[in-house]
Amino acid sequence: MFTPNEIIMKKTLLFLIFQLFFLTAFGQNLEYWQQRADYEMEIDVDDSKFQYDGKMKLTYANHSPDELKKVYFHLYYNAFQPGSAMDHRLRNIKDPDSRMVLKDESGKIQSRIEILSEENIGFQKINSIKQNRKSLNYKISGTIMEVSLAEGLKPGQKAVFELDWKAQVPEIIRRGGKNTKEGVDFSMTQWYPKMAHYDRFGWHLDEYIGREFVAPFGNFDVKINIQKDYIIGASGKLQNPNEVKGYVAGAKVKATKGKATWHFIAENIHDFAWAADKEFLVNKQRIANGPEVYFVRMNDDSIAENWKKAEIPTLKFIEYMSKHFGKYPWSTYTIVQGGDGGMEYGTVTLITGKRSFESLVGVIYHEIAHSWFQHMFAINETVDEWMDEGFTSYAENLAYLEIFNQKREPNPNMAAYESYFNLAKSGVEEPMSLLADYYNYNYAYGVQAYNKGQVYVIQLGYIIGEENLKNTFLKFYEEWKFKHPTPEDFRRTAEKVSGLNLKWYENLFVNTTRVVDYSVQGVVNNEIQLKNLSNFPMPIDLLVEYADGTKELFYIPNLELRGEKPAEDFEWYKDAKRTVLEPWKWSAPEYSVKVSKEVKKVIIDPTLRLADIDYSNNIYNK
Ligand SMILES: [Zn+2]
Repeated sequence: MFTPNEIIMKKTLLFLIFQLFFLTAFGQNLEYWQQRADYEMEIDVDDSKFQYDGKMKLTYANHSPDELKKVYFHLYYNAFQPGSAMDHRLRNIKDPDSRMVLKDESGKIQSRIEILSEENIGFQKINSIKQNRKSLNYKISGTIMEVSLAEGLKPGQKAVFELDWKAQVPEIIRRGGKNTKEGVDFSMTQWYPKMAHYDRFGWHLDEYIGREFVAPFGNFDVKINIQKDYIIGASGKLQNPNEVKGYVAGAKVKATKGKATWHFIAENIHDFAWAADKEFLVNKQRIANGPEVYFVRMNDDSIAENWKKAEIPTLKFIEYMSKHFGKYPWSTYTIVQGGDGGMEYGTVTLITGKRSFESLVGVIYHEIAHSWFQHMFAINETVDEWMDEGFTSYAENLAYLEIFNQKREPNPNMAAYESYFNLAKSGVEEPMSLLADYYNYNYAYGVQAYNKGQVYVIQLGYIIGEENLKNTFLKFYEEWKFKHPTPEDFRRTAEKVSGLNLKWYENLFVNTTRVVDYSVQGVVNNEIQLKNLSNFPMPIDLLVEYADGTKELFYIPNLELRGEKPAEDFEWYKDAKRTVLEPWKWSAPEYSVKVSKEVKKVIIDPTLRLADIDYSNNIYNK
């Protein structure tokens, strides 16, 4: 029996519990969330036909605040069929990827997909799909399969999907396929029905035309049955090295009817890839307190030396990245010869292997750097490819300079700036915020993603200061590893670290094709006259040399920054007194700096990190 007091207390407690429940439930709607897809797959490969039969058990967790009545899968192999969207794209884009087309004697370009024969096309044919053991209806259009759920998937619920499918590996035209130019039999990328990405922006149902990817994180447990004389390099860690060829000396290959089963487990990745060939050789290295690193290449004397020589610099690279961009979190990384260039996947990359030493190290560095900017930070490459490629290129480049003892200028990659300036002047530039698939020119896509994306970071260092930039990357790791950050999220991290407002920079640099152009107009009566010739405001570092040999560094923040960057430690600024001036309003094109001594020379940004399209008017000499 309760006394009245106890009843009141009980009621209060119930109320509190209810309140807590509702706060949590509704709070979640406003907070960051992400879906999860855990895969268990077993496939049986027919190497004579380059086909396989697959079975998948996929556990999909709905962490969204929405009830899902449908889910979608990517069937990427279907792009490699005549008449596909990828085929049409090749026939119609003005500058198609040279790997994907043929040129006849008259110079006429032909899509390689258009002429694929039946046994060389790719396909993923679904035999059945079930949700919690009930068969589901589905509709396939191009590379996207829409699946109507038997039971709506409520917030917080999980569904188990079982798929049964058959696939044919296409001739290699882009990224994955059979029989690469270097003789690798199987380059298995985009090879399984892959759960589409659903996030706070909705479903991402981009038809595959050759650009890149986004997907939910999950664990992959993959068993591959293939003729026992094959060797496989793959995402994750091999579970049974003693039962297959190539990984352990003296392994007793456990084969049933001529096939061996390869079992890999990869945790917390969002894309599983593998490659197989009978001529593969495997070499293993290990980083203290870091991952095991596997090198899987063809048994080819012409590449052996460079591959061996690349091993130690590869380990140094992972150490560099871990120190400057956050610790590498997985237990393995595997570099496999395969594919058609270099492409990153979860804890594995497929690269072509016949390269000079510099090119081999370059591609390995680039693809491993993607383990951060693409895999650990699962950036949506269909929208923000510049963030993924640009940040990757930036990190790759900084590491290369340090590991190979090259001098690091304040602007570590002037070539990226030159390339971006050329694009800006070309007349075909489109904003970086454009969906990746839709660029009119591959050229414009490539330069904005790799070069302008890199300029974004280097120039951010100019705006907030190098120290703040370094700390931004480390804080970004703390905040966003194993999530799906957007450029706004990175910008917010940079704002929190620097205390500066960067909304204007993000908006103008990413969403428009505006360019920066400042100039020193002249010096009249000890007054330096500056002008913004563009419609892009920027903070200005102004180095002044006086006639008496002394130097002064004026710092003019732009008004929207609402603060100032700390002093930076570059050799140009040695012995220069630093003076912080009043902010420059973006709405005023002119600004003047009053000095008390005779001026000999004036330079806007001697570090060359400001992406000023016309540097000739940045310098004034008396
Ligand atoms: Zn890349």
